[in-house]
Amino acid sequence: MTRWRYAAATDTGLVRDLNEDAIFVDDVIAVVADGMGGHAAGEVASQIAVELLEEQFHLRPSVEGLATAIEQANSRIIADARATPEHFGMGTTVIVVGLTEDATGAITPTLFNVGDSRVYQLRDGALRQLSEDHSVAEEWVRMGRLTPEEAAVHPRRHQLTRTLGGDESVEVDVASVIARPGDRLLLCSDGLSNELSAEVIAELASAPVALQEAVDALVEAARRAGGRDNISAILVEFDEVDEPLTPIRRTFSTARPPSASTSVTSSRRSRTHQRFTWRVVLAVSLFLVAIGAGVLVLHWYAYSAYYLGDDNGIIAVYQGQPSGVLWFKPVKVTDTAYAVAQLRAPDQRALAATIAEPTLLASLHYAAYLHGLWRLSQPATPSTTTTGPRSTTTTLAHTTTRHTTTTRPTG
Ligand code: MG
Repeated sequence: MTRWRYAAATDTGLVRDLNEDAIFVDDVIAVVADGMGGHAAGEVASQIAVELLEEQFHLRPSVEGLATAIEQANSRIIADARATPEHFGMGTTVIVVGLTEDATGAITPTLFNVGDSRVYQLRDGALRQLSEDHSVAEEWVRMGRLTPEEAAVHPRRHQLTRTLGGDESVEVDVASVIARPGDRLLLCSDGLSNELSAEVIAELASAPVALQEAVDALVEAARRAGGRDNISAILVEFDEVDEPLTPIRRTFSTARPPSASTSVTSSRRSRTHQRFTWRVVLAVSLFLVAIGAGVLVLHWYAYSAYYLGDDNGIIAVYQGQPSGVLWFKPVKVTDTAYAVAQLRAPDQRALAATIAEPTLLASLHYAAYLHGLWRLSQPATPSTTTTGPRSTTTTLAHTTTRHTTTTRPTG
């Protein structure tokens, strides 16, 4: 049998407007959650975690029960953040000591940790930190990249590597707490551990006074030290404590065991696959639109011009670029009423090289004009000297226009 007495306090501190920490303690469970996220969302996240853990642990006071409850809290925070835009990005740390019952019926304290809230054990005035912080700087200490002294002032010491609400799968440290009657445990948020040195925490937490007095002294000391964050502390003292038959110390992921984890993985994979497919479809669509636009522009360019050419001895109007554009070849629009032979020699040479015109009508007019020049150049016609450029023969152009009009019964 394990029994403890407890006391707790939480305080907004001197700088923050809100207290986003949430705490709960009773005869069987102690929880501290330090919420984070704008618009009071951190308060929501820490509250969800504490309420769910407390409720679930009373229904199922085992290691598995608590692990499941932490997983549920994580899912619920994520679901709430998705459903409520102001809660986007919210999360919380959670540190729990529960008196868990094992298969043999033994009830022993077990610690669960996600984030950088802490559990210290106090015995004979000495302080020992039982939990490991899941912050970038502390992970680097464990990897040997930083010394504990460097980590204590490192700019990334507050950047968490694990939280509830961050990822659908969360890793939870679980460890049996080996205690003796008279031992105290202090659970606290970083608003307390950042403000006070280990020596001060040890002295105040193990002071031979009532638990509530000790807790209040800790919170007050953190306020006096600056109170830059919300401050929470729970102190429990064991009257009786069992030792677990097989102590646990491991980190487990809330990703489910094999069968279920496969489905989690596959659902993730299918989400990735969906995202992948969606992106591919978008990319291909954009590519096709670009290709389509290019083809339209080419088509427009290819058929934006007209020219006069020789179609088996008849002057014809063609639409398109004389040499074509890629696979857009020029097409004959119409024959004119004039034979190539009814053009003056230089005009026949010009026609052989094609004569560009901006529109169909301009093409017809110019063909008539050239034909008119030829007629004027014929011996039967007295004025054979009219060889001026087209722009100077307005009268002639009028004549030929009329002529063209009357000779276009098929147009
Ligand atoms: Mg905090």
